[in-house]
Amino acid sequence: MSRTSHFIVAVLALCGFAPVGPVAAADPILKQAEAERPAFMETWQQLVDIDTGTGDKEGLAHVEGILVDRLKALGADVAVEPAAAGVAGNNIVATLKGSGDRNFLLMVHYDTVFGEGEAAARPFRVENDRAYGPGVADAKGGLATIVHALAILKALDFDGYGTLTVLFNPDEEKGSTGSRDKIAELAKQQDYVFSYEPPDSDAVTVATNGINYVFLDVKGRSSHAGSAPEEGRNAIIELAHQLLQLNDLGDADKGTTVNWTIVHGGAKRNIIPEVASAEGDMRYSDIGEYDRVLNEAQGIVEDHLIPDTTVEFRIQQGRPPLPKNPASMALAERAQDIYRQTGHDLDAIAMRFGTDAGYAYVPDSETPAVLETMGIVGGGLHSPDEFADATSVVPRLYLSARMIMDLSRSNEGVARP
Ligand SMILES: [Zn+2]
Repeated sequence: MSRTSHFIVAVLALCGFAPVGPVAAADPILKQAEAERPAFMETWQQLVDIDTGTGDKEGLAHVEGILVDRLKALGADVAVEPAAAGVAGNNIVATLKGSGDRNFLLMVHYDTVFGEGEAAARPFRVENDRAYGPGVADAKGGLATIVHALAILKALDFDGYGTLTVLFNPDEEKGSTGSRDKIAELAKQQDYVFSYEPPDSDAVTVATNGINYVFLDVKGRSSHAGSAPEEGRNAIIELAHQLLQLNDLGDADKGTTVNWTIVHGGAKRNIIPEVASAEGDMRYSDIGEYDRVLNEAQGIVEDHLIPDTTVEFRIQQGRPPLPKNPASMALAERAQDIYRQTGHDLDAIAMRFGTDAGYAYVPDSETPAVLETMGIVGGGLHSPDEFADATSVVPRLYLSARMIMDLSRSNEGVARP
């Protein structure tokens, strides 16, 4: 829970509202979310205690079996399809058909960054309202949130949605190469997409960064550094010149960063190097920044320090961004109204990470409306100190269930085209 939300709770209490108790009593959905908590904790423990590092076929299959059983028990049709591109594990796609006309996709990954033996070494535990264990927040808390939000809807006999589709993918931590096409294909059929990565405070995310990889290749001419250095064209010196020229490709106002992080060059101490290269990391949220950086850099590299060298700059595209957009903002506002019912404030944030929400977003289209970090609040991701805030379980379950119910019923909010 963030400091802000403590403050808000305190203010509400002073104003005479005791936020959680009476609201809970009055709100059957919140009551059901509270009733669901013990079952959530059991599922959470079960999922965290099985290693599912990306590529760990056995562990991924074990958790797949658990998730498929859960989804079937909730009444869903479940299809299991091998991830593309030879990636280990399956994409799990579950569908529930309802009586309404709004379509939802709830998605998150079931792989983690942790290797075999990690779960045995530090199994799931809760201490002072913090849960620990490999992937406890990223994203096993998200898996459990989806499963138990559906359980809440079932317990309340709610089927007012058109379709509710669930996608669990096995490869997010290595770039989702085996699931990105599936995400994009499913997302196009939806009105709303919720992604369940963990926020680091009481927040939902309306924009995520895209990731690109930048490359610089310099070709010069080799010669003996002792007997004929003047005949060589030193690729390393030219690379150094280019890196200094290309050190400013970012744009702080647009949130674009370009950082050179790897250099290669040279073979022997007595040879003028023929080739040198560099690689770097680009983050951006404005889709136009790919072309801007490419054009700018290609212009800059025409200026050489060492004559007779060739220089090539290129960009390889990684995860696309979820850019700031009105549909995500409208969803976040609705989420904020709902979350307030739990006595907590909710921030709408842009984050610097890239996530699968980028694959779900369709440029120049009002649908689907995409919202990220619907999972359990947590921190220390990808480290042994990873934790999740166990007090966020009920508010987060409530948020998901109530969002689906409210959006299914309403014809305003995010309009269909
Ligand atoms: Zn994640």
